[in-house]
Amino acid sequence: CGITGFVGKGEALPFLMQGLNKLEYRGYDSAGVTLVDDNGLYTFKSKGRLCQLEDLLKGESHPQKTGIGHTRWATHGIPSNLNSHPHTNAKNTISIVHNGIIENYQAIKKELIRQGYPFLSQTDSEVIVHLIDYYDRGNLFAALQKAVRYLEGSFALCVVSVQDPDTIYVAKKESPMIIGHCASGSFCASDIPAVLEYTKDILSLEDGQIAVLKADGIQVYDFQGELQKQKWMHIPYD
Ligand code: GLU
Repeated sequence: CGITGFVGKGEALPFLMQGLNKLEYRGYDSAGVTLVDDNGLYTFKSKGRLCQLEDLLKGESHPQKTGIGHTRWATHGIPSNLNSHPHTNAKNTISIVHNGIIENYQAIKKELIRQGYPFLSQTDSEVIVHLIDYYDRGNLFAALQKAVRYLEGSFALCVVSVQDPDTIYVAKKESPMIIGHCASGSFCASDIPAVLEYTKDILSLEDGQIAVLKADGIQVYDFQGELQKQKWMHIPYD
């Protein structure tokens, strides 16, 4: 139901958590984050309130500069730890968060299970990470492009991977996603309140677009890989 993502020069977690807090009004039944660096992916998720996720995170330092966060409003699969986002592939090299509904997930799931992919959750969203893994030949952008063209329904999604620990890939169709940038990095969220403490200049991603977020800048493409002109706007309120 809510998404946050950060790639920057400092720790990602503070942005992710303040953003999820600001998106609380949308309602949710579980929450989670994946942090990433050269050594791997670190995923923490829990059914329940954000304070339960905070309990999992406390007592350890989290220096990673890239991460994605999610609050879930279950549509497919009961609220549970396993059904919470982020969802990762079996090798634990790719992680995704998703808002929306993948209408054709059953057909995709059936085919991926036939290919030997293990499913851990009952969600529609989990097909996304395995589909990206299926298409991944070492270029995550290309794999995401192939995957999104196959997905029917609505999605706002973020993808991180160990191959590309300094990048977040963001794709959108019929579910809101905004992008922001400031001196400390680039970020994204499913709604404006999550970013207002960091910037008032935002880019509203359009349907059929993929944004590539790095600490020093953002590029936007369509699903075919054509570079898109960016229409930034200024939010005049707090
Ligand atoms: N359909 C997905 C699920 O049930 C995402 C729900 C959401 O947008 O929070 O896990």
